[in-house]
Amino acid sequence: APRTVLISGCSSGIGLELAVQLAHDPKKRYQVVATMRDLGKKETLEAAAGEALGQTLTVAQLDVCSDESVAQCLSCIQGEVDVLVNNAGMGLVGPLEGLSLAAMQNVFDTNFFGAVRLVKAVLPGMKRRRQGHIVVISSVMGLQGVIFNDVYAASKFALEGFFESLAIQLLQFNIFISLVEPGPVVTEFEGKLLAQVSTAEFPGTDPDTLHYFRDLYLPASRKLFRSVGQSPQDVAIVNVISSARPPLRRQTNVRYSPLTVLKTVDSSGSLYVRTTHRLLFRCPRLLNLGLQCLSCGCLPTRVRPR
Ligand code: NAD
Repeated sequence: APRTVLISGCSSGIGLELAVQLAHDPKKRYQVVATMRDLGKKETLEAAAGEALGQTLTVAQLDVCSDESVAQCLSCIQGEVDVLVNNAGMGLVGPLEGLSLAAMQNVFDTNFFGAVRLVKAVLPGMKRRRQGHIVVISSVMGLQGVIFNDVYAASKFALEGFFESLAIQLLQFNIFISLVEPGPVVTEFEGKLLAQVSTAEFPGTDPDTLHYFRDLYLPASRKLFRSVGQSPQDVAIVNVISSARPPLRRQTNVRYSPLTVLKTVDSSGSLYVRTTHRLLFRCPRLLNLGLQCLSCGCLPTRVRPR
């Protein structure tokens, strides 16, 4: 029988693409429940699903921040969830001093507690049946901090710690966890962030910090999306879902691995922090070449803090 796959955040981006790819599986291995907070945005998904709509793909309402919405969505599903994909998420960038705690809590409510809420709802069934797969769209920012992404990275680190811990227990129940860690992906995600920062004033932030954010970080971030950004199709989570022994972690972008490896080669953490500091504040090639400048010879041997 096909496996029931429930995905959060399918109105756009990675969630939409994954839902459509699974629904179009030539072997028809999946019955996809593609969920979104606002059903008013279902048209793009429905158009992309084409003939799969109503066959191997159904659309359902689900707000990961609401207990009632989760309960109602699950009660509408015939049978149990075999694969849960925690994809819904949001970003937050900017100098810490200028961000409200409410905005930060909203990020955790969505990215972290949203996933936890769904897992609590599907886990008893998976345990009873002694099978299941929980996929989490984390980020390379779940593995390493990135300047001006403090809160977003923290929410993804939280997911990494939570699900790595859970994975140990769940092996006993034949339930697998997979944390997918993309680098930049060209979706609505970046545009939403840029719209947010274009109107934000970041009150209480000193001029130096604002300058670093607006004149160094934002252009560098835009270039990074353009130079190493993947498409949602490239993220290829279908392989993780179809795997007989799913990996706990899967980075999707090999061009990003020079940065993630810095943490593994120096457990003190300094190499990573100093290198990324230099990439932004010192290396003139960054803005032209994105991460390519890791191979330009200026790194990492002569990395020095300011
Ligand atoms: P996106 O903005 O296109 O998709 C995010 C989806 O989550 C949207 O459809 C949004 O409506 C939904 N969502 C937000 N809050 C929700 C809620 N409370 N309930 C239900 N749905 C909600 O961006 P994307 O790039 O496709 O992001 C998908 C996931 O990938 C996110 O978890 C994001 O953190 C992660 N990710 C994105 C990138 C990137 O560069 N785009 C990189 C690494 C990881």
